[in-house]
Parts: sequence; C-alpha cells; structure tokens
Amino acid sequence: MTNEPRCLACERGVPKLGRRQCPECRQPFRAGWEGIDAHWRARHEAVMPYEAFWTALCRRHRAADSVGCPCCLKGIPLDGPRQCPECALVFRGKGWEGLDAHWKSHLDVLSYEDLLASLCPAHKLDADRSSGFLRLE
Ligand SMILES: [Zn+2]
Ligand SMILES: [Zn+2]
Ligand SMILES: [Zn+2]
Ligand SMILES: [Zn+2]
Repeated sequence: MTNEPRCLACERGVPKLGRRQCPECRQPFRAGWEGIDAHWRARHEAVMPYEAFWTALCRRHRAADSVGCPCCLKGIPLDGPRQCPECALVFRGKGWEGLDAHWKSHLDVLSYEDLLASLCPAHKLDADRSSGFLRLE
C-alpha cells in the first residue's frame, strides 16, 4: 500500500460541482461542506479518519459548491448559441436541444439536475427567446 493520498470523492464518482454530497453515503450537504466533519466522525470514522479523508480530497472536490451559473463562469455570451459550459460544444438552433443526452458525458462533474438548478435564468432560456427586443446599434 502506498501513502499517496487518493481523493475518495473522485474514487466514488461524486460530481465535482453542484451540491456537495458525502462520498460514503451520498448524503447531500446544504451549504458547501458544512457539517461534513461532524457527519464523517459520527458515521464513517471507521472507513477512514476524517483528517485523512479531508486532506486527500482533490482541489475541485474540496472547494465549496459553485453557486454561480456555469455558463456565466465560463463567460458564454447570453445571446449567442447555447454552449456546453464543460466542453464548449455548440448546440444547434440556439437552444438547449439535446443537452440532457449530451450531459451524460459530464455526470462526473455535475448532475443534470444540479446543472439545470444552477443555470441563471438568462442562460436557461433558449438564445432565441432571450433576445425578444430590438437591439439599437
Ligand atoms: Zn476529487
Ligand atoms: Zn456519509
Ligand atoms: Zn448564466
Ligand atoms: Zn459538453
């Protein structure tokens, strides 16, 4: 056995964004990792000591959940075609058609449910509908 720290959340396939969940029992946490220490010590201390679990978490997993819209974070324009915030794939017809099928390849990053919940209203709309006004140039 090596002493190389392994991120338990990566090992268990916990999404890297969205609501934090316990990698052992999948209990979701309300705000970031709030309460994980007490939860871990009470239930999973036998699996791994809390300090070892916590220090082994990778950076993406240790960060508190990103509350922001993933499209805003990536700087995807509001009125352009819809783009996957993870791999920048451009969707056809300025809408989100096919996103659910496409997102299946990014489930290790964020669950589809959490993706929809974190998109801002402006990005959630199809681009066609979000520009329902005349632009003055
Ligand atoms: Zn990880
Ligand atoms: Zn747990
Ligand atoms: Zn947005
Ligand atoms: Zn993608």
